[in-house]
This record gives sequence, C-alpha cells and structure tokens, in this order.
Amino acid sequence: MGKFDAYIIPLKSLSAGNHTFEYQLNNDYFTKIDSPEVRKGNIKAQVIVKKTGSVFEITFNLEGNAILSCDRCLDDMEQPISCKENLCVKLGKDFSDEDEVVIVPEEEGEINIAWFLYEFIVLSIPIKHVHAPGKCNKAMSMTLRKHKARNINEEEDESLDESENLTDNEESGNDPRWDKLKDIFDND
Ligand SMILES: [Zn+2]
Repeated sequence: MGKFDAYIIPLKSLSAGNHTFEYQLNNDYFTKIDSPEVRKGNIKAQVIVKKTGSVFEITFNLEGNAILSCDRCLDDMEQPISCKENLCVKLGKDFSDEDEVVIVPEEEGEINIAWFLYEFIVLSIPIKHVHAPGKCNKAMSMTLRKHKARNINEEEDESLDESENLTDNEESGNDPRWDKLKDIFDND
C-alpha cells in the first residue's frame, strides 16, 4: 500500500454520472505530503466526479483551516480555506498534466488526487497571511521589525507595516480608541 492509496479514484470503473468522494485532510495528510507551505491543517475535501463517456469533470470543494507560519511573527496561525476548483481528466495514452486537461493512461484508468488537493489548497492561500490585529507574537514581530527597519525610522516602519496588511480603519494608526485614551490623559 502506497501512502496515498486512499486518494486514488478508479476512473475507468466508475459508472456514468456523478460520484462523490470525501476526505478529511488532517496533520497526518500534510505530514505525508511533506511540503514546506502547509505542515498542518484540517480541511474537509469533497470531490465530485462526473463521468461522461471517457471524460471526467472533477470538482473539488475544500473547507477548513490550514496552519501556516505568520508573515509578521513566524508563529503558527490558522488560515481559513474555502475554495472550489475544477479539473478535467481524460483517458489517453501517456500521463500529462501540462495542459488544461489532465490525461490519464487508459491502461491504468485511475488518478491519484493527493497532490492535486494539496496544490489547490496552496493556490487558495493569500500571498500575505498574518495573524488578526494584536494576535502576533509581540517579541518576535518586534525583533523582525527592527531587523527590517535597520535603515528606516522604526516608528515609520511600524505604521507602514500595520497599514499595508489591514483595511480596517481601526488599525491604521489613527485608532479612535487611542484618540480617546489621549483625550483622557490630556484632560488629566
Ligand atoms: Zn503573527
């Protein structure tokens, strides 16, 4: 038994119509995949195969959380994953996944989707992924920030760093809660 045998879909032997397969992609799966982007997670994958003649339209629905390293502080963070991807597979002579249609050798008649699932998860991760405001490892992000800010004024870098990640006005440096606090101190 190969370590990804559970992810083999026996295309050729499927009857015409829709077939649903479900997988729970947990830490065990990510450990086996052994790829740097995602090391842990818990994602539910629903895979629907629609067979029409020798064409297979495969729909992947992925929902759950991937554990990633935060861009700002490097600590683990939960990245929600929710995506839907499609793959068209045909039976043919030699295996190929270069084009939009994946060709699976007719003799084998099956496809292992373990790596496709992983690729779709990675594709759905935003380029910049960071903790929610205030949830970063403060000591670590401070150290990293100082490192980055060697040539820049540190305060300036801090406001830059905050505003580029957040659309929320509250965190853009003009935090209204701060202003309130300042008012209180001023009145004292
Ligand atoms: Zn963080």
